[in-house]
Amino acid sequence: MDSSRDQIEEIRGKLDIVDVVGKYVQLKQAGKNYSGKCPFHLEKTPSFIVSPELQRYKCFGCGESGDIFTFVQKIENIDFPETLEKLAKEAGVTLRKQRVNTTYERLEDINKKAAIYFFRQLKDKKGIKALEYVKNRGIKDESIKSFGIGYSPGGIELLSYIQSETKYSKEELLASGLFVEKEGKLRSKFYKRVMFPIRSSSGKVIAFTGRVLPDNDYGPKYMNSPETPIYHKKDNLYGQYESRQEIRKNDLAILCEGTTDVISAHQIGIKNIVAPLGTALTKEQLQKISKLTKNVLFLFDSDTAGQKALEKAFIMSQELSLNTYATNTLPYKDIDEMIKESPKKFLSLVNKKVDAFTYLLTQFIKDKNLTKFSEYRETVSWLEWVLSSVINQDNFLFYVKTVFSITKIDISKKGATKAKNFSEVKCGGLAPKRAGKDAIFLQHLLFLKDKKPSLSFDDKVFADSEIREVILFILNNPECKREDIIKQFENDSQVKNIIEDSIFSFSKESSSIEELQNIYDSIVKDYYQTKELEYNIKIAAAEKTGNVKESDKLFKEFQDLTKEKQKYEQNSRL
Ligand SMILES: [Zn+2]
Repeated sequence: MDSSRDQIEEIRGKLDIVDVVGKYVQLKQAGKNYSGKCPFHLEKTPSFIVSPELQRYKCFGCGESGDIFTFVQKIENIDFPETLEKLAKEAGVTLRKQRVNTTYERLEDINKKAAIYFFRQLKDKKGIKALEYVKNRGIKDESIKSFGIGYSPGGIELLSYIQSETKYSKEELLASGLFVEKEGKLRSKFYKRVMFPIRSSSGKVIAFTGRVLPDNDYGPKYMNSPETPIYHKKDNLYGQYESRQEIRKNDLAILCEGTTDVISAHQIGIKNIVAPLGTALTKEQLQKISKLTKNVLFLFDSDTAGQKALEKAFIMSQELSLNTYATNTLPYKDIDEMIKESPKKFLSLVNKKVDAFTYLLTQFIKDKNLTKFSEYRETVSWLEWVLSSVINQDNFLFYVKTVFSITKIDISKKGATKAKNFSEVKCGGLAPKRAGKDAIFLQHLLFLKDKKPSLSFDDKVFADSEIREVILFILNNPECKREDIIKQFENDSQVKNIIEDSIFSFSKESSSIEELQNIYDSIVKDYYQTKELEYNIKIAAAEKTGNVKESDKLFKEFQDLTKEKQKYEQNSRL
């Protein structure tokens, strides 16, 4: 454990967060910090700040924050060991293996070996028919390589290949999803099938999709690996590894239905495309996509099932605040067929995407006569159902307008009650989270150019007790550096957050005594104003209740306060 902590620190020391984050987010320098649009939530104005000084990032819109490790783990959607591996590589640090292969790693190894075996079989004599089929489907050599397409002839060879170097137990082999047990013997699950490896987000082979050869009647057309400890179909997408960089680059993910659609699209240069694995799209899969982009284009079949699937996908997307688009390949059966006929048509289809709600609505009313009451009713209740999922208020208003312009149905009143429930995420400017003058004073104090302020500050004027604590510490320790100040409050997460917020949200190089004095003057002014008001109320209350002693005492205090204020005003120039 200790040695792994050392290695984490070693990596941290060799990588700069600005470079690491800069690979994913366009960053602009703003004073000591860098800012950009947050990759974890949708926003128009940048509220994502990277501090080279703290080696941390923070989003003032959605609250995400952390260091290089949390950033990469989140944005790549990988686990911590994978993140460590990736960053170690970038930093040129060789990781000492912490533990010998775990169960997961052994299952991954079995799948990896199988992928190598299948790949070789496709180019072997045994794979002639399979290769012929693959070529007939229009799959090019480069795709065979990049997607690792292979062939499983069945039989016992796979087993002996996998067992040749490392020995795996029967339980492990069964758990890999590649074998079934028949009469006490392990047999290959995939018989005479073209094999498409399914890779995890980090590129490890975790399962397979097997397509039967045309002359084979055994089993379904497509057969996937079963659920295993390393593969859950609801969490994974075909092409999630192969397409992820282009998804991020294009800021758009195309979601289609089939494995071969993904490959065909890649072959004409559309590489931001993924497909669910033989099941309906799940929320987990959408979540995975939402980490790469907030824009999704659904390209489902245009039949009734496709329409239903799209409705569901649209509704699930709302909760994740995704921008959804939709289109179809009509008159072609699917993407694969369309691309074979005309790659150009597919390219323009992607460019001409329409908003998914408009698409769903026009599909829904296509054959409806809205002057007939029953069909009108049906449409209205469908609209209520679909729109009840919309969380974002802007989107909701846009959809209501869309409905009116297309159908002349006004559902804005029905939507009004809904609109109250909107939980809109506000992405404000970059003021420290605790706006207020105290926070701004602290911020300027932290970034003061001249380390020793010749001014004296009266700490009682600061209303916020936590901020006052930090200010006092800084004033008493004028030589203390920002990182030391954070260290000082390491164990008080609330105070630590206040300091971090101040550092993150400061957009200039440094501050001057003049600026600090101006803020202080304003705080003092507020302080006296509040105090005076307080005394006025207290004195009035004492007089009303006839408490002469109390009102005299208060009045004397009030006079002292006024004197104090005048003295301050003479010294500065309030
Ligand atoms: Zn954010």
